[in-house]
Amino acid sequence: MNHVLYGFSAGFRHRRFLAEILRATPQGLATEAIVPEELRESGVTTLALDFDGVLACHGQPEPLPAIREWLNRCCRVFGEERLFILSNKPAQVRIEWFRRHHPAVRFISGVRKKPYPDGLLQVAGMAGSRPGEVMLLDDRLLTGVLAAGIAGTRITYITAPHVDLATSPLHELFFMALRATERAVVGLCRG
Ligand SMILES: [Mg+2]
Repeated sequence: MNHVLYGFSAGFRHRRFLAEILRATPQGLATEAIVPEELRESGVTTLALDFDGVLACHGQPEPLPAIREWLNRCCRVFGEERLFILSNKPAQVRIEWFRRHHPAVRFISGVRKKPYPDGLLQVAGMAGSRPGEVMLLDDRLLTGVLAAGIAGTRITYITAPHVDLATSPLHELFFMALRATERAVVGLCRG
């Protein structure tokens, strides 16, 4: 619960940053629309990836098929050892999927949850990168995007996260409402 309270106070302090990301990010931006080669050319050396909504629908154990192809491409461009999974839910089944398919990709766990910057700073430390070379992909303004603002990393705000309303309607609707609320709150606090 502490990370939620921290999120509100840090969110207020970083409200202009959040509002700028919200303003500058197009609607309908999906993970697989991000071109790893372009990130690499812009100076990104390390990727930190959220899991829920970014690699898979909420609560799912494995990345979606379209994302698996995209992950392969990221691994070719950056090298597996420069990819990190930064999820507030580093479930064992997810860790095992990566161990089978991308054994050098590392999960960050045992740190304070986003929006605390700890996980992103750990990614930078483990990769030997400056925070400004680390790109986080995340679909939540007040957790991932805020963590990036605090840690000083780059951020891609995924505005078209993967959802599966057929399999888990209540769960997905809850997170859709949460994302919409975050956007509304950040929009109101602008300026
Ligand atoms: Mg997410």
